[in-house]
Amino acid sequence: MNKMVLVLNCGSSSIKFAIIEAATGDAALSGLAESLGNDDAKLTIKVNGEKKACPIDANATHQQALNAIELALEAYQELQNSLVAVGHRVVHGGETFTQSVLINDDVKSAIRETAHMAPLHNPANLSGIESAEAAFPNLPHVAVFDTAFFQTMPKHAYLYALPYELYQKHGIRRYGFHGSSHYFVSHKAAEMLSKPYEQCNLITAHLGNGCSIASIHQGRAVDTSLGFTPLEGLVMGTRCGDIDPSLPTFLIEQLGYSEKAVTAMLNKESGLLGISQLSNDCRTLEEQAEQGHELANLALTIFSYRLAKYIGSYLVSAGPLDALVFTGGIGENSDRLRADTLKYLSHLGFAVDADKNTAMRFGQSGPIHQEGSHNTLVIATNEEWVIAQDAMQYV
Ligand code: ADP
Repeated sequence: MNKMVLVLNCGSSSIKFAIIEAATGDAALSGLAESLGNDDAKLTIKVNGEKKACPIDANATHQQALNAIELALEAYQELQNSLVAVGHRVVHGGETFTQSVLINDDVKSAIRETAHMAPLHNPANLSGIESAEAAFPNLPHVAVFDTAFFQTMPKHAYLYALPYELYQKHGIRRYGFHGSSHYFVSHKAAEMLSKPYEQCNLITAHLGNGCSIASIHQGRAVDTSLGFTPLEGLVMGTRCGDIDPSLPTFLIEQLGYSEKAVTAMLNKESGLLGISQLSNDCRTLEEQAEQGHELANLALTIFSYRLAKYIGSYLVSAGPLDALVFTGGIGENSDRLRADTLKYLSHLGFAVDADKNTAMRFGQSGPIHQEGSHNTLVIATNEEWVIAQDAMQYV
C-alpha cells in the first residue's frame, strides 16, 4: 500500500480531514465535521466519490468531533495501517515559525502563546493536535503554518504605519494567511511556465470563502493582503476586507454598536453577504445577478474591482510579471469574476480569452489569456498535499 498522510484542519466550528497519498496528492478519503457546538453538528466522510453520514453528538465539541472521526476511521483499517504521518494545519505561527516543524511540547507552547492573534483558530488547532497525538501516538505529527510562506516579506511590506513599539512589544504587523495554497499554486505555475521557481515573478489570488492575494518576486513572497488577522484586504464571503480604520470606533461611539457586534459584523455579516443582503456564496450571487438582482450584481462588481486594484498595486512588488494565477473555489470556477477583474486591468496588459476562460472551470488548470497579453493561469489548489509533503519530511 502507498504511504498515506492524515491531514487535519481544525477550524473554529469545523474540522476538515483527509487521508492523502503522499506521492500523488490524491485524497483516498476526505471528511468534514461541521457546525460544531451547534445542535445540527454533523460528520460526513467521502470515499471513492461516495459521501456517507457518520454518527456524531448534537452540539459536539471539537474534542467529541475528533473522537467521532477516530471511530469513523476505524472502518478503514487498510488506510489507517498505511498512515506514516499526521500533518496539522495551524493558522498562526507568528514570527516564530518560518517553516513546518515536528510537533513537541515546545512547539505546542509556542502555538498556545500565539493564540491571542488567532483566538478562533489556534486553540482549535491545538486541540486537534492533542487528540490526534493520543489517537496516533506512534506517528510523527507535523505542524504546517498558514503564515510561514509569508515570513520572507520585507519589513517595508509587513509593517503598518503605526507606532513602531506596537510591533516590538506586541508583534503587531502583517502576517498573511493561506500560505499553503499560495505555495502550491506558485510552484505549479513555475512548472507550467517551464521556468525555475526562483526566477518567477507571480501574483497569486486565492479566492474562496476567505480571499487573499500574494506578490511573489523571484520565488519569494514579498507582499500579501491578509494582515495581522485574516480580515484585511480583498472582499471575502462574509469578511469586509479593507475599510477605513476609524469605522469601528464610529459604529461604537456614534451608532451605539457593542464591540462584539462590530467584530461579528466585520467578520460574519460583511463581504459578499453584507453587500448583497442575500448570500456569501458566489454561485448564488451569479445566478441571482443574471436574473437582475441588483445588490448581487453590485457585490460581485465590488469584489472584482477590489481584486483588480490589488493586482495593479502588486505589479509594483512582483516585478516584470511571469503570470497571474487564480485559485480557490471562486478563482477556479467563476469565469465571470475572472473576466470582470481582467477587464479593469486591460490597459495594464491583461486580456482574457473568452473561450479558454469558460473552459477553465471545475478543477481544470490552464491559461485563460489572449496571446500577447500577460500570462494568466487558473490552477486548482491542493493545500492538503502541501501539508502531506511537509509532514513526509519527518517520516
Ligand atoms: P473555502 O475557503 O471554504 O475553502 P472554497 O475555496 O471552497 O472555500 O470556495 C468557496 C466559494 O467558491 C464559494 O463562494 C462558492 O460559491 C465558490 N464557487 C464554487 N464553485 C463555483 C462555481 N462553479 N462558480 C462560481 N463560484 C463557485
